[in-house]
Amino acid sequence: MLKKPLIGLTLEQLRDITDSVGLRPFAAKQIASWLYVKRAKSISMMTDLPKEARQRLSDEYCIGLAEPKDAAVSADGTVKYLFEGVGGRDIEAVYIPDGERATLCVSSQAGCKMNCRFCMTGRHGFNGNLTANAIINQVLSIPQSRSLTNIVFMGMGEPLDNLQPVLNAIEILTAQWGLGWSPKRITVSSIGKLKELRTLLDTTKVHIAISLHNPFPAERADIMPVEKAYPLRDVISLLSNYDFSHQRRLSFEYIMWRDVNDSLRYAEALVRLIGRLDCRVNLIRFHAIPGSSLLPSTTAAMECFRDCLNDHGITATIRASRGEDIMAACGMLAGKSSQPEPAY
Ligand code: SF4
Repeated sequence: MLKKPLIGLTLEQLRDITDSVGLRPFAAKQIASWLYVKRAKSISMMTDLPKEARQRLSDEYCIGLAEPKDAAVSADGTVKYLFEGVGGRDIEAVYIPDGERATLCVSSQAGCKMNCRFCMTGRHGFNGNLTANAIINQVLSIPQSRSLTNIVFMGMGEPLDNLQPVLNAIEILTAQWGLGWSPKRITVSSIGKLKELRTLLDTTKVHIAISLHNPFPAERADIMPVEKAYPLRDVISLLSNYDFSHQRRLSFEYIMWRDVNDSLRYAEALVRLIGRLDCRVNLIRFHAIPGSSLLPSTTAAMECFRDCLNDHGITATIRASRGEDIMAACGMLAGKSSQPEPAY
């Protein structure tokens, strides 16, 4: 029988299993502490639980930590980790050191259904959702785990298309019985699935990043088919009901393509669209992917665009590109598949 992993279970889920192994419900907190605080490598290390209960727990469960299968190190210090995924596709997480900050970009799905034209992950299709175990494992199993300062859900997949495991992972990261992180250290990036976005906003305090990329609906739909199902205007209308002036931050991601969305006409349309929200804009240089005719904007065009937003009172910054030499930069994650890769 395949043993079930404990890592990735919330306190409530741990309470559900204490009874079956002859433990009182309060033992769930002890198990959570061994998993997420003391980082026990085996159930036998949980020495404040009775020996018989540990044995019964071990009969059915394992800790459920799996080390990365592979790692690629960039010249800039970024490290891309490869993990066992689902449906024949491995998944990737990217460690990004930056001065005192150490960010881990985690994946929430093996592949993605959203099919954005500029993204390697979308290009390869969808292989399956990650469990909370597979998400938390990315955080706990890398060598730099204890020095991480930030987590961003910006790796493979659309986090809100796999909502419950992502919510469980956030609970484990932020709860006092878990890793005890402030939600201010966590950002969830999304294309804006409306119902799920509302749930995320109502049930967590994490920062929100919305992939925007084009202020004109028809043009956005061209590069992000999801615009048809979740129009940006509806996403913005939802966001306008929440307070982003302190505690929680709202940002918009804007990848810049040469002669596609990088002129002042687009910057001015963006100001009209989001100008009333408390938000910032991250301008992202495009990293060319095989088979795509899209080209990155020039630095001059990006600076001009940024200055226009700043002049209109929207804080905009050009995000430094990291890990491009190991295909770890924004939009380049694809994992590895046991199936033939698509031809470009
Ligand atoms: S950009 Fe994000 S939502 Fe779009 S295909 Fe890639 S992973 Fe999915």
